[in-house]
Amino acid sequence: MTTRSQPGARAASAPLLGHATEPTIFEMSVPGRSAFQLRSTGVPPLSLEDLVPEHHRNGHAIDIAEVSERDLVGHFTRLSHRQFSVDLGMYPLGSCTMKYNPKFCDAVAADPGLNSVHPGAPAELTQGWLELLVSLEEKLCVITGMAEATLQPAAGAAGELTGLLLMRAYHSAQGDARRRVLIPDSAHGTNPASVTLGGYEVTTIPSTSEGLVDLVALKAALGPDVAGIMLTNPNTVGLFEEDILEIAESVHDVGGLLYYDGANLNAILGVVRPGDMGFDIVHMNLHKTFATPHGGGGPGAGPVAVSKRLVEFLPGPKATRLANGTFDWVRPARSIGRVHGWHGNAMVLARALSYIDVHGADGLERVAKHAVLNANWLRHRLRDTLPAAYDRTCMHECVLTATPLKTRFGVRGLDVAKALLEEGFHSPTVYFPLIVDEAMMFEPTETESVQTMEALAEAIERIAQRAIDDPQSLHRAPQTTPVSRVDEARAARHLIATEDAAQRMSL
Ligand SMILES: *Cc1c(COP(=O)(O)O)cnc(C)c1O
Repeated sequence: MTTRSQPGARAASAPLLGHATEPTIFEMSVPGRSAFQLRSTGVPPLSLEDLVPEHHRNGHAIDIAEVSERDLVGHFTRLSHRQFSVDLGMYPLGSCTMKYNPKFCDAVAADPGLNSVHPGAPAELTQGWLELLVSLEEKLCVITGMAEATLQPAAGAAGELTGLLLMRAYHSAQGDARRRVLIPDSAHGTNPASVTLGGYEVTTIPSTSEGLVDLVALKAALGPDVAGIMLTNPNTVGLFEEDILEIAESVHDVGGLLYYDGANLNAILGVVRPGDMGFDIVHMNLHKTFATPHGGGGPGAGPVAVSKRLVEFLPGPKATRLANGTFDWVRPARSIGRVHGWHGNAMVLARALSYIDVHGADGLERVAKHAVLNANWLRHRLRDTLPAAYDRTCMHECVLTATPLKTRFGVRGLDVAKALLEEGFHSPTVYFPLIVDEAMMFEPTETESVQTMEALAEAIERIAQRAIDDPQSLHRAPQTTPVSRVDEARAARHLIATEDAAQRMSL
């Protein structure tokens, strides 16, 4: 076997944080080195020629790194220390609900009784798994106030597309082709993208100066060609849409459906239910609200719960409790089909059920109330440094603005966010929602203590002082992290997703 590795390959030098450079795994490769050794058994080993017939071999050398287990573990452990994570510190990335995830939920998902089961195993051998899925579905329906749910969608955006396909199936079944879906201008970018993928056109509804849906504009946009509306409540500026009942009635009056983007469910757990607000379709981001480490593209789960009239269209097959008390896979009568190769990201589903069960109804309500309390504490604490975009009580996140720092010292929200990394905090979400100038959206979540939030506030005050004393230093921040300020647009415009990217971009 030959690889690109050279004798005398680069060794990782300093097992330190900060600026120590880490070679790629290919640069560490030494021909013939391996992370495993098979002990001799006395049985003559089979050669490649014995195992794979000539006509199945492609004859090319394969491009893999050859490293010892020691070097392999060292490499990935060092890389993991160059990352920020929810286990390391506060991660107030608004809208993403980067709460600390209890290790208990990981322990449940690590149970070999759960994770060694093949998803294609027959129902009679996997009754426990089916019961788990049915139990999760039932509890999510209680939490959201809906009739039934699918657990298949792999993330929030996949749930949105599923919801729009359900909307389309519902209207087609009435012989009623509709064209448009309404979305407020504060919405998450996935909403319009999902509407387009679902074959509909977007009509944008403006927000009022209060940060809420403009009811007059909404009513003016309604008509018989409206398939539905997508709403987040609390919305993406962290405010509760107080007119939700009137919005629901107006949309239903023209025959449209209401879609609930449940990314902000953490704010209302056990307090209000989307079903009671009049929503017909609800997606949940289990990885946000119900404890799965996410970020970096890790697995998510975006179950979609629906009201009674949409149940027959749900994706299938679906784990179902039969009349005799056993469980089986059942395809709903007019199912839109599968939206996942199997049954959904099962380990995220297992974690979510364990999180719900270990909290109980009162525990979930405390999650929401503490999340809202923390966001309001932070909004109030920071009012002289980063004023709120909308000066009123918020829900689980607060949208602040760096406009005063920009106007007076030329320091932007991006500079503050980058400087926060030097202070040991993850950045908040910046420049979202788009309707707020220099938006900085903080979501402390319920898992942070008042001491941690005070430390964050003090860090932001130090950065504000630097804006007065040395604004140039903020434009260069961060300087003390393993990676300093990057050109964020370049990677997206010139995507080179291979290990030799740096070389090819002649960095
Ligand atoms: C995160 C988020 C989504 C998309 O969810 P994913 O799980 O990331 O696909 C949609 N809407 C809002 C408001 C969000 O915060």
